[in-house]
Amino acid sequence: MDACGGAAVSCLGHNHPDIKAALKSQVDQLSYAHSAFFTSQAAEQLAEKLTRLAPGNLNHAYFVSGGSEAVESALKLARQYFVEKGELSRKRFVARRQSYHGNTLGALAVGGNEWRKEPFTPLLMEHLYISPCYPYRDQRDGETLYEYGQRVANELEEIILQEGADSIIGFIAEPVVGATSGVLTPVDGYFKRIREICDQYGILLILDEVMCGMGRTGTLFAHEQEGITADIVTVAKGLGAGYQPIGAMLASDEIYNTVSEGSGFFQHGHTYMAHSAATATALEVLNVFERERLIPKAWATGNDLGRKLKEAFSDSPFIGDIRGRGLFWGLEIVQDRTTKAPFPVTSAIHKKIKQAAMGHGLMCYPMGGTIDGKNGHHILLAPPYIISAEQVDELVLKLKKAVNSVLPSEY
Ligand code: PLP
Repeated sequence: MDACGGAAVSCLGHNHPDIKAALKSQVDQLSYAHSAFFTSQAAEQLAEKLTRLAPGNLNHAYFVSGGSEAVESALKLARQYFVEKGELSRKRFVARRQSYHGNTLGALAVGGNEWRKEPFTPLLMEHLYISPCYPYRDQRDGETLYEYGQRVANELEEIILQEGADSIIGFIAEPVVGATSGVLTPVDGYFKRIREICDQYGILLILDEVMCGMGRTGTLFAHEQEGITADIVTVAKGLGAGYQPIGAMLASDEIYNTVSEGSGFFQHGHTYMAHSAATATALEVLNVFERERLIPKAWATGNDLGRKLKEAFSDSPFIGDIRGRGLFWGLEIVQDRTTKAPFPVTSAIHKKIKQAAMGHGLMCYPMGGTIDGKNGHHILLAPPYIISAEQVDELVLKLKKAVNSVLPSEY
């Protein structure tokens, strides 16, 4: 049973007949057209559909081959937007500590996960970092969740004031944090405050939905649930559902118009961008979401999964926190529920759980470095949206057996 879809990619399972048929049919019609000179019906239809479904005025789509390329495009477009406006002093982004936005040099540089960056530091531009929204670890005694969210969001204002708004291009964050910290859902009001600060100081809000987007959290775009709009959004993984490599950047009218009425050309591009086979596949993925009503189903089944995980692990001394939204769940592993102390890094608990789960016929995505890139462990679950209620039971049972075999009560 694949309960993680690789890294939250295979949202339609591995053998969807409609997706395979759409891909084959596209390859029969057109294998490749260079997007510097040509467009394709598939790319145009996908752009039309994705922008129609996107919140706010994200009316412009740019297709690439994956998440890092989408983030890279977003960072460059954001900088070019200010260049077009003559605001050349804007050079840096603000992101959150422990964040991950991709492995190409630009995307890696902007991420706050030190462990991933360490060997490449001399090659990376320096950016600015604020705290993640991680109440399980950081909420203070006596502070409500709302107050906590406002406090950590206000760090954005503090850093802008400290560095000068005219040196900053934008703020980048995942609406729901995926791999690095085991699914962190934002607290109420957090992103509203972030949006307010971005508007007040004239910096762009870039939301990285590479992992949490495309229905994973129970709405097509994760940030729909925050009641905000973004200037640029990146998506990938679920967009191609694993059948084709594809990512997308969506940009607002304001950004698009500034570039098109300015130099008229986004100074970027890749050979395989807007590939016809990839865009035809993604278009069919969106069609399948609609035809099979999979996104509301992901929301409902996800609630069921969350409830069952909490029941199954309620007596486990080693599962400190269970958090998630839609079909996107994380279980944070601790040595002691009261102190929240993590297992030592050397315990490699995540690898043992992964192996034990495979032994029980379950693929999940346990990782280390949950707290600060080095310490802490979690298990990430991102099952396909087609999962049935019976399969949810099977998933929880297999996971419990795997966790208990690695962490028996006397561990
Ligand atoms: N952004 C986020 C939030 C991700 O989770 C990932 C990949 O895990 C990326 C960007 C990079 O995507 P890719 O691996 O497709 O380049």
